[in-house]
Amino acid sequence: MRVDVVTLFPEMIASALDFSIMARARDTGAVQFGIHNPRDWTTDRHRIVDDTPYGGGAGMVLKPEPLVVCVEEVTTKTDAAVVFMTPQGAQLTQAHVRRFASLSQMVVLCGHYEGLDERVRQLLVTDEISIGDYVLTGGELPALVLIDAVVRLLRGVLGNETSALEDSFEAGLLEHPHYTRPPVFRGMAVPEELVEGDHAQVRRWRRKMSLARTLERRPDLLARVELDSYDRELLAEILAEE
Ligand code: SAM
Repeated sequence: MRVDVVTLFPEMIASALDFSIMARARDTGAVQFGIHNPRDWTTDRHRIVDDTPYGGGAGMVLKPEPLVVCVEEVTTKTDAAVVFMTPQGAQLTQAHVRRFASLSQMVVLCGHYEGLDERVRQLLVTDEISIGDYVLTGGELPALVLIDAVVRLLRGVLGNETSALEDSFEAGLLEHPHYTRPPVFRGMAVPEELVEGDHAQVRRWRRKMSLARTLERRPDLLARVELDSYDRELLAEILAEE
């Protein structure tokens, strides 16, 4: 997959993608990153990318010309999504992430200052994504959140292919808790079911904890997921233990 980022602060994106699983994904060829500064698409001597808003008011607005030409040039695949990071967009979910990960290209557009000229949205943007109901100074951190979530789903990126499938939200539930050595830490022991080496027992404990955690923290998710008779039996056990 190709991921192209259009940003006034390319170093912010480049440095964050140069670590851990993102860097490995790039080095193994699972993803190709392109980072583009719309300033390089300006034609004036001062390389101006922003201007004051029509109608007055505070802040600056990103001008349409360099942004549009830049996005047009870097969008090379026919199925590409052009994603504008904006607090006014749809709140990012794992379902969006899965859809973007299935494409051959995602072009991510980072706003700054007051945002960008409305005509850029109308001309080019296929998706508007928010990372939550709060306002940041720029789209770079939201873009990195989106890219990390998408790239980790690409084939071969996570060491263990099944681990992404077990994560929270993938199967509609929150994931079960995790433990590692030592078996007792500050008086708190690892649950017996996990240390006895019985795989069926471990699977049952994990499913039950996943259901219990979702019931406690995100009952809205539990209401939407399809439960079979085994899950219903585990849920009845959880409710009886409360
Ligand atoms: N004036 C805009 C508004 O009220 O919707 C907010 C502009 S914000 C200061 C500057 C840029 O940061 C936005 O264009 C967007 O790219 C990014 N941004 C800020 N908060 C965001 C969020 N919650 N999710 C995604 N992008 C965000």
